[in-house]
Amino acid sequence: TTCYLNGQFLPLSAARISPLDRGFLFADGAYEVIPVYSRYPFRCEEHLRRLQDSLDGIRLANPLSIAQWQAVIAQIIEAAPFADQSLYLQVTRGADTKRDQPFPAVPPTVFAFTAALTRPSDEMRRSGIAAITLPDIRWGRCDLKTVALLPNILARQQAVDAGCTESILIREGFLTEGSASNIFIVRKGIILAPPKDHHMLPGTTYDLVLELAARHGAAHEVRPVTEAELRDADEVWMTSSTKEVLAVTTLDGQPVGHGADAGRPGPVGRQMLAWYVDFREQ
Ligand code: PLP
Repeated sequence: TTCYLNGQFLPLSAARISPLDRGFLFADGAYEVIPVYSRYPFRCEEHLRRLQDSLDGIRLANPLSIAQWQAVIAQIIEAAPFADQSLYLQVTRGADTKRDQPFPAVPPTVFAFTAALTRPSDEMRRSGIAAITLPDIRWGRCDLKTVALLPNILARQQAVDAGCTESILIREGFLTEGSASNIFIVRKGIILAPPKDHHMLPGTTYDLVLELAARHGAAHEVRPVTEAELRDADEVWMTSSTKEVLAVTTLDGQPVGHGADAGRPGPVGRQMLAWYVDFREQ
């Protein structure tokens, strides 16, 4: 497939980056993942706004204007052999001639490529997924979407090693988010979401879920969620651009929820997914 690297469109297999690139040496960069449905980038403006926030947060000037990003995105989407895609954008602080921590005066590295979108399987939709909980050992600016994903990767692999799909992170007794998702819970019919702060990524799907809850009059509260509330929830969902709204039905080996619905996707989450799909398809 075609990718974009520093002003040029070229085959992904031909793209070359210096080993002195600060993305490689220091994870000094920010990224975005935008889902593409039928060659339409979903919530593109929101993703580009978050990229700007991440770049501002790491003091890296955005090398492209919104219109330039949109042109790059359109061209990559068009060149791909598949219609549903997962589009990736990354900006790093470029390649210096030496390895030195302070910012160099070099141009940034700008990279974009697209892959076929992997959507949740029918089985995942029907049964939900299993998750484990882990302590959130990440840094204090998890609101920035930087490429420094080592703690996320380790947490995610621990979930996979346990036969699960996602890790749900707990910081000082409170739910933060998943290793690659935001987490919502439902208790007594009320959707609960942790408030945006420096300990979680402000998810574009998180925002859309809260917008849809408000639009359809679903009871919801944005407030800190304790680990105890998570463990005793009626429903737990993970949300992300590629997973949309996906039920977590097993947590640390225990079924999520109570009564007949325990261990199965619950009604509030099914309704939210229906609203989400309607919105996406309109
Ligand atoms: N939290 C983390 C750590 C993520 O990596 C992601 C992205 O996949 C999300 C949350 C969800 O963000 P979004 O809904 O914008 O995809």
